[in-house]
Amino acid sequence: MRARAAVVFALVVGGWLWLDARAQTNEPIVSGAHRFQKVADGVYYATSSGTMNVGANSPIIVTDAEALVIDSEITPAAARALVADLRASTDKPVKYVVDAHYHYDHAPGNQVFTADAQVIGHDNTYKRLLTNVMEQYTYLSSVRPIPARVETLKQRIAQERDAQQKATLERQMASSLAYLEQVKEVKVTPPNVTFKTTMTLHLGGREIQLMYLGRGHTDTDVVVYLPQQRIIATGDLMESQISYMGDSYPDEWIATLDRLRAIDFDTVMPGHGVVFKGKTKIEVFQSYLREVIRQANELRKQGLSADDAAPKIDVTKFSGEFPGIRGVGIDPAGVRRIYQLADHPEPAH
Ligand SMILES: [Zn+2]
Repeated sequence: MRARAAVVFALVVGGWLWLDARAQTNEPIVSGAHRFQKVADGVYYATSSGTMNVGANSPIIVTDAEALVIDSEITPAAARALVADLRASTDKPVKYVVDAHYHYDHAPGNQVFTADAQVIGHDNTYKRLLTNVMEQYTYLSSVRPIPARVETLKQRIAQERDAQQKATLERQMASSLAYLEQVKEVKVTPPNVTFKTTMTLHLGGREIQLMYLGRGHTDTDVVVYLPQQRIIATGDLMESQISYMGDSYPDEWIATLDRLRAIDFDTVMPGHGVVFKGKTKIEVFQSYLREVIRQANELRKQGLSADDAAPKIDVTKFSGEFPGIRGVGIDPAGVRRIYQLADHPEPAH
């Protein structure tokens, strides 16, 4: 008996220690298509677990009675999966969704939420989502390469000897093929609550500030700020990696990031990449934008087309903060955008 009691005692204490260690290491919880990282009390960061294309990362704020989700994800299927997977972290219903911006990998899950939740976005998100964004450049240029990528994956799978690596590639291929099916269900759905500059939600003693800081990654970027916890969700206005520039306002983006940096926070939950601390990365990204604009304008003056200029732009000096930069050359979409705005400026409205 005594031996059994000792075993039970050891298991209970061991279990406590294990739970405690897990809480301290902040190990993410994998649930279905998502992985949930606890960022602070009631604040989670949902990323893909690798089984499904869910699109952007979704910060989640849980209050006493409800959950607020930032970004409804890339398809209605991903949005439904998020709602189901979230039950591993909370039993509170999703009552608020914030569209960080209008892009195809952030807002197409809106249709899953509009019946039961307030889907909040910027006035410009509403305007943009009244048009068919699934026929526009950013969506098409992202989706068109998928079939070719699937073909490449097929060849790599056939040649791969390592079983684990092969399984990873097979998962990637399956989720790409599934996405091409799942996206057919999208009915572009604008937010049902919109605002122009700021909006504050007071939920369960928590203050949640929504802000539009100006044009940047798009003209629809909303940041969500938790002043008590000094946490901010920035969408693609500021990522931990280099953000897409194809719909951006590069000059204004730098000024908008000045306004972002003026806010008192120390933790950033971005639309893509990983949660990061501090403001250094933002400053470096501003320098990156300045450098891209400077070099693009120079090459434009020399008479190069945007597509000829893009591979010549050298931003490798920023690879310390942004290791995704692996050599000279940048995404032509950004350079096309700089040229387009030089030829046809878009006055602020
Ligand atoms: Zn985006």
